[in-house]
Amino acid sequence: MNTAETGTIAAILRKPVLLKQDLVAILAATDPADIERIRAAAESTLLEHCGPTVRLRGLIEFSNLCVSDCLYCGIRKNNREVERYTLSDEDIVESARWCATTGYGSVVLQSGERRDRRFIDSLVRNIHAIKDATRSEKLPDGVGITLCVGELARADYERLYQAGAHRYLLRMETSSRELFAALHPPAQSYDSRLACLHMLKDIGFQIGTGVMIGIPGQTIEQLADDLLFFRDLDIDMIGMGPYIPHAQAAMPPDAPLLDVATRMDLAFKMIAGARLLLRNVNIAATTALQALDPVGREKGLRFGANVIMPQVTPLHVRQMYTLYDGKPCLGDTASQCASCLEQRIHSVGRRILHDGWGDSAHYARRHAMNVPAAMQPPAIGPAQPAIPSHGARRVIPLQLKP
Ligand code: SF4
Repeated sequence: MNTAETGTIAAILRKPVLLKQDLVAILAATDPADIERIRAAAESTLLEHCGPTVRLRGLIEFSNLCVSDCLYCGIRKNNREVERYTLSDEDIVESARWCATTGYGSVVLQSGERRDRRFIDSLVRNIHAIKDATRSEKLPDGVGITLCVGELARADYERLYQAGAHRYLLRMETSSRELFAALHPPAQSYDSRLACLHMLKDIGFQIGTGVMIGIPGQTIEQLADDLLFFRDLDIDMIGMGPYIPHAQAAMPPDAPLLDVATRMDLAFKMIAGARLLLRNVNIAATTALQALDPVGREKGLRFGANVIMPQVTPLHVRQMYTLYDGKPCLGDTASQCASCLEQRIHSVGRRILHDGWGDSAHYARRHAMNVPAAMQPPAIGPAQPAIPSHGARRVIPLQLKP
């Protein structure tokens, strides 16, 4: 390494292992040439470790009923202005069937949090029904099912896994205990959410988590810690987006908010930082990116994301599921979303993975002993030393040109 370059972005991008100070430097970069170096390195890492395909998960927001009260959220239980809904079993299964016939190999079933027996029973029933309805020659095990339904008891997670769901998204929103406490009422605890993530992993789910970027009061150091938190938890999937306020949220009204451009810049650099640090995880270009920039998701792909969750929620309820203001695609049918996405993905030189689950290569590697050889990713190690329980992974330094 050229000594004169030590500490510069170009030098950082050549390091085999990124440390916290490197991530801080990446997130703090403002020079357009540096940001392009970061983007190009992240894209190159993505292509090397995950390939060029974009994996789709049809997003079915099947209920906005929620027993929790996250202060930033538009559908928190204490927002009395929201009209509540739960889709019928027929609507849920039909939406999943549409995904399968359109070539989406996976769906996400997302809702507010509920822990009652009736909710879990209906979810188990729908997972079975979706699997039955979507099996085909192309998808012999039906569509892949990701759940995003919040904190539950271990026995409930086990029932959902046994029913056929194999991925679970549970966002921490921040790895900082202080910020977490500022975003949630005292009844919702950091430790409880973290324990759920460990439980899900222990059961066998591919686990995903994520954070909001640009939360009032958040620091760049805390965002760098978020990336290290993903690494230490050995997660398989990440979903991150800019913090966007909701008019009926309960956040303190005087909380200072970063401008849109700054939050978006940070969001793209977080995607790039996650890709450079973790290499073979799946990273979503979230809808929130498009809420603040019409081409935000395409930019997310170019900064290292490889998953998009097109809207499949039936139109008549879609506007009732708004966690933040300005959510895009509220009036587009699932078919319109599908053709729009195809064009957007092609516009950045990538192509869609049709009729495949599109699982995280990181997960396949974690479970290499149980995965058929044909399904295993290339033998390339992660950026960081392996966590002891998965010590078989080997580490190969990154070779990136600025
Ligand atoms: S973020 Fe999720 S758990 Fe929290 S209030 Fe909103 S829907 Fe409920």
